[in-house]
Amino acid sequence: MKKILQKVLTFLRKYKIIVALAFLLAISSVSTVALANANSVVVKSDSVNVRIGPGLSYANMGQVKKGDKLSIISEKNKWYEVRLAGDKIGWVASWLLDNTTVSSTANKVGLIKVQNTTVFKNADASSDVLGTVSQSQKVSIMYQESDWTQILYKGTAGWVKTEFIEGTQETSGPDSAHNSNNKDGVKTVTVTQPSTKLRIEPNSNGRIVKTVNVGKNFDYLGKDGKWYKVRDSDGSVGYVASWVVTVSGTKNPVKSAATNISESTIIIDPGHGGDDTGAISSKKTYEKNFTLEYAQAIKKELEKTGARVILTRNGDDTKSLGERARQSSKIEADAFISLHFDSTSSSSPGSGITTYYYQKNKDGKLAKDINAQLKGVQIKNRGTQEKDLYVLHYNSQPSVLIELGYINSKSDYKHITSQKYKTQIAKAVTAGLKNYFQ
Ligand SMILES: [Zn+2]
Repeated sequence: MKKILQKVLTFLRKYKIIVALAFLLAISSVSTVALANANSVVVKSDSVNVRIGPGLSYANMGQVKKGDKLSIISEKNKWYEVRLAGDKIGWVASWLLDNTTVSSTANKVGLIKVQNTTVFKNADASSDVLGTVSQSQKVSIMYQESDWTQILYKGTAGWVKTEFIEGTQETSGPDSAHNSNNKDGVKTVTVTQPSTKLRIEPNSNGRIVKTVNVGKNFDYLGKDGKWYKVRDSDGSVGYVASWVVTVSGTKNPVKSAATNISESTIIIDPGHGGDDTGAISSKKTYEKNFTLEYAQAIKKELEKTGARVILTRNGDDTKSLGERARQSSKIEADAFISLHFDSTSSSSPGSGITTYYYQKNKDGKLAKDINAQLKGVQIKNRGTQEKDLYVLHYNSQPSVLIELGYINSKSDYKHITSQKYKTQIAKAVTAGLKNYFQ
């Protein structure tokens, strides 16, 4: 078995099938994946938030900018744990990064100077020992600070004492909000966090000169450790923490701030499918086909915001309600939206859109924000309603179920089958989610 695995690994290495390798590694760990070759990625969006945990719900600790290079430590739910300068660790949404530029050759190579150099789990000699590396062995350097160097060790990240490794002239490390990137062009420091303090000294105990808000600009004067020395337009000078600001040069200003929706993972659930046709219209068309069409339209519109969008089914598949709800919980979706079309058996069918939620605490705001945007579309709005529906009840994540009109109402059906209405729905749901995540 071991021999086979080795052969597979050799094959994969040869062809640099990084994704497959990460998958193999995933088998050996429950939820956290140590990435082997995929240890460096480049930021693709104008700016991306760095959070303290793997998801939108975790606090924002700073930002990285387009073109910044990050070292990956692990992965969870499509979020990467990355190392920033100063031994800080944060999480970024992987879909906002350019994974195609991943390459191990982009990293510096070091030569081990001492026989049986110990590899530690953390930059700390009292942390767990991962193993040893032999003298003259070449290792990939992921990140380096004065005393400790992070290397790629057996597909994961490990630390060795910098004094035991050679050819390790100061590396730039991952560029991030913590670095004084663009040494020449740096001009403006822009605050990204509310109630940011300008202090007299470069530390968090320094006396406060003033408190400023998001968007405030300062002139960049210099850097002291992890703090920037800045000047305000009124002439006052002080220090701001590098992790609550972004730095831009006049040539490459940050075009747009990171938006919360771009970091969100959204599940769109096209109701019914496969054996289950859902409601049938008087024209003998099926609800299951409309829900899929609408889900695809919403996905397309949502992806323009940068969000990660997943459909519970991509074709005419049979899928239980339990599977749909579990998928939402498993990937810790930030929002789950189930799509349906109503029908009534009475001779005078109803009309209108209804947005259902189950638990007010968990789902109420999502229902309210989406429904508010659904008021401008062609079919009349019946408002939000609390209802014990399976995909909402057994869903650990914020979730709603939207009935997008009555499939057996002549007037609703005319809109349901029109491109115009479908576009309106896609735009309205996207606008609602944008507000929800703000
Ligand atoms: Zn239905």
